[in-house]
Amino acid sequence: MANTSELKRPTLIDGMGRKIVNLRISVTDRCNFRCTYCMPADNVEFMDRSHLLSFEEITRIVGVVSKMGIYRLRLTGGEPLLRKDLPQLVKMLSNVEGIEDVAMTTNAFFLKEHAQPLWDAGLKRLNISLDALDKEKFTHVNRRDCLEEVLEGMKAAREAGFPIKVNAVAMKNFSETEIVRLVEMGRSEGFEIRFIEFMPLDADQTWERDKVLLGHEILDIINKKFELTPIQDSLEIGPASEYRFADGKGKIGIITAVSNPFCDYCNRIRMTADGKLRTCLFSANEHNLKELIRANGTDADIEQRIREALVTKEPGHKINLDDFERPTRAMHAIGG
Ligand code: SAM
Repeated sequence: MANTSELKRPTLIDGMGRKIVNLRISVTDRCNFRCTYCMPADNVEFMDRSHLLSFEEITRIVGVVSKMGIYRLRLTGGEPLLRKDLPQLVKMLSNVEGIEDVAMTTNAFFLKEHAQPLWDAGLKRLNISLDALDKEKFTHVNRRDCLEEVLEGMKAAREAGFPIKVNAVAMKNFSETEIVRLVEMGRSEGFEIRFIEFMPLDADQTWERDKVLLGHEILDIINKKFELTPIQDSLEIGPASEYRFADGKGKIGIITAVSNPFCDYCNRIRMTADGKLRTCLFSANEHNLKELIRANGTDADIEQRIREALVTKEPGHKINLDDFERPTRAMHAIGG
């Protein structure tokens, strides 16, 4: 993987003075699951495939942003492993000068087959989504009966050598029974479990504040069984407030996206599978990079459009304000 020393790396600053180092790249809006907090149960309208950026187009944009100061990438979707030949893209992105870290978020279903080729291609880290270890709850929330396949995929990923974080969406009257089980699995398998407060990004638009299991409620549940010590300043490096187990056996993270958003420290931008740059998960505006590329725009044109977008990066999302408006895209079409 190309490695630029911190001294040589350019610095990319948004309109609020935040340093932007991360690009999340959605490679498809399609998914083999239909999670209740993300997608509709059926009749999903997916993007026409002709709108998806090709691997070459994605790599070209990454070449531009890496010269601007972005050095960490995360592939996501939809389910990124539904995109054919994904290890090929990982290899192309890993070879871009200045890119130091390529990671992926996945539901793990296809990892049994793909973990090793992804590792060999240069993928460094995996975030795996797993909301429940109870089979019925898993099947209910994912609307797919395949807990076994997911656990096998996780095993294959660990055997390939991946550091793994597990993402669990925290929902009231659902997650309470799963929290300690997930934490115990994390401690025994060496995964960092991260609980994410349920956000208003579900296609069914059933989100209500009362359905969110809040960060402090999650901590209360864990604290009944395990003593935790907060890790200072963890929000300055990532979206999770992190805690170490007092017995030294691992750590957990809580992403309080609703009750205590990390927007002041946000260091990321996103690109949808159809090449629209989004400066926030909850952005009302998108910046069309695909259009620019397909109209023979130069790298300088792409850079300029990204810089213009960054000036407008939102100070914070407005979930807690009266004038909050849901984005028109659901999470699977933005890229989680
Ligand atoms: N298919 C992949 C997966 O399952 O990890 C990647 C895409 S998924 C949209 C990315 C992440 O977004 C997952 O960890 C998922 O739990 C999270 N997510 C989706 N909808 C969410 C919501 N409404 N609130 C909080 N997290 C959500």
